[in-house]
Amino acid sequence: MFSGDDLLARVFAAAGPYLDSLAGRPVYDAAAAKLLPELGGPLPGAGVGAAEAIDRLLRIGTAAGTASSGPRFFHFVTGGVTPAALAADWTAALLDQNGFSRVSSPFAHEAETVVLDWLRSLFGLPAGWGGALVGSATFANFTGLGCATHWWGGRLGADTVRDGLAGLPRMPVLSGGYVHASARKALQMLGHGRNTVEVFAADAAGRADLAGMRRRLTALDGAPAVLIANAGEVNAGDFDPIGELADLAAEHGCWLHVDGAFGLFAALSGRTAHLVRGIERADSIAADAHKWLNVPYESGFALIREPDRLGAAFGMPGSPYLPAAGDPAAGYGLLGPESSRRARSLPIWATLAAYGRDGYRDMVEHHLDLAQRLARRVDEAPDLERLADVPLCIVCFRAHPPGADEAGLDDLNRALGAALIEDGRFFAGTTVYAGRVALRPAIVNWRTTAADIDEFVAVLRELLGRL
Ligand SMILES: *Cc1c(COP(=O)(O)O)cnc(C)c1O
Repeated sequence: MFSGDDLLARVFAAAGPYLDSLAGRPVYDAAAAKLLPELGGPLPGAGVGAAEAIDRLLRIGTAAGTASSGPRFFHFVTGGVTPAALAADWTAALLDQNGFSRVSSPFAHEAETVVLDWLRSLFGLPAGWGGALVGSATFANFTGLGCATHWWGGRLGADTVRDGLAGLPRMPVLSGGYVHASARKALQMLGHGRNTVEVFAADAAGRADLAGMRRRLTALDGAPAVLIANAGEVNAGDFDPIGELADLAAEHGCWLHVDGAFGLFAALSGRTAHLVRGIERADSIAADAHKWLNVPYESGFALIREPDRLGAAFGMPGSPYLPAAGDPAAGYGLLGPESSRRARSLPIWATLAAYGRDGYRDMVEHHLDLAQRLARRVDEAPDLERLADVPLCIVCFRAHPPGADEAGLDDLNRALGAALIEDGRFFAGTTVYAGRVALRPAIVNWRTTAADIDEFVAVLRELLGRL
């Protein structure tokens, strides 16, 4: 019915030139947006045939796609794709395994088991932890906070797996000001509501107010509560004091969830490991592989201290055609929020097998060096002003021309952020840090070089000069 022609060869032929172009091409070419309408039109009746469809997709995509896997994309915290991860991602599509259960694919099940253990080991967590590979850190937060929800329900004598939140008070969730929007989204999806987070911030940047948290926990008087610690906050890459939050959790019998979407990777270098000291005392940890591990989207993971909590939270008991979560035939579809899922373990497996712990330590340290280089370039520039220390991979700064009036700086920096995106050679995002509009480039792509950093600052100052 469907002939394959030489479709994969067409993709292969486009891949080399595209990958080679990443070092030099703009992140986004606004002129290429004129190609996007070619995706549209009515649903074809007969179809154009596979070769023409794939050719069109490649032609539009290689021109109008965002080069976010290239070395000059510093917006959000994205990461690129290592060669091993890219090849394994193609392999995952080729084999089209369902990572639902051991029966659907013993191969995918085994790869996922190995990968979860390798990740546990990479981040220095003790044996015995379990986890789930999920689509994103948002889903990893959902997974960890979902387990927390049922722990909390159990402490109140309720069966939240069966009955949900019916008849229960609001679950206390405490965090510092670094709490990520996706943790709130996870709580929203879990039915707690995004405003259930009680934020204890000691300053305008959002540093955790531990004394305030302690007072609140004392007032709760032993009622179970959830603490969210933030390992790597998105504005400046700062960390909550995880060890002290772990002490607080232990003192008051709380569930400790750590959002380490990218910051967990601080564990890989002796230069930054102190930032995540104490994570081994957490109950759940959320992180992304599609960020600093440099594997393709969609690749988040949750690590859970007591793995049995996953089956309790995400099993589907009572379906006669499915094994129970504890059954040897069961698999990861019953241990996380998704059921059928691609073998997203394969890119992680390949990249860790290929480059190992040492390769990733070297990559993280390369990024630490590049972030310090960017901080120096900012400090040297008379018209730029750094707003925060650089503990990890994010540099938070703003344009501040000599003599410029403070009142106009927010507008100037918003305009600079917009000009940067419009220019397209580099991407970085703006934020509001401690009440001031700022840029917050994040350096987590293995392709980025010192020359990219220097050129970024030069382009930024060129654009600033034109405003
Ligand atoms: C990126 C990020 C998330 C959400 O990650 P997604 O993969 O986009 O869902 C959560 N927390 C932190 C700290 C992040 O940086």
